[in-house]
Amino acid sequence: MKCQECRGEMTSRREAHRYVESGLPNVTLVDVEVRQCPRCGERTVGIPRVEELHRLLALELARKPERLLPNEIRFLRKYLGLSGVDFAERMRVDPATVSRWEREQEPQPMGPQAELLLRLMAVRDRPVSDYTEESMEGAARADAAPLSVRLRPSRGGWRHDDADRDAA
Ligand SMILES: [Zn+2]
Repeated sequence: MKCQECRGEMTSRREAHRYVESGLPNVTLVDVEVRQCPRCGERTVGIPRVEELHRLLALELARKPERLLPNEIRFLRKYLGLSGVDFAERMRVDPATVSRWEREQEPQPMGPQAELLLRLMAVRDRPVSDYTEESMEGAARADAAPLSVRLRPSRGGWRHDDADRDAA
């Protein structure tokens, strides 16, 4: 493997890498391939299955017993694929509030309800609007009635029973 900077031959070895590129300062990836150029010092890290890794990190953050830190809030927002403005909209706050949650210097603490919502979004792996604004469109407009569904366990998970749909 040639160095992209100087075309020198890179050396490769497996070692621990602190994954600061994630924005989280204390995540260490153990035993990943690190390539180094002895000539110019260029260093590249091969991180396998990044998507799965980020999912795992998001879940770790969602379950973390301590309050979330600004960089962790930013990681989760980016993990959810949201811009600051989109995130503000989902959380029903001003975009300036998102900036204050995420800034390292004198951050504004996230309210407990907002933090819980962010953690829930991370666990669900999708922005909250996906299962509120759209799927709940028209909800709570009719009189109360018991939920009536037929669910069938299948290899891929619980599914609506076809007879349920035929009856509808
Ligand atoms: Zn080089």
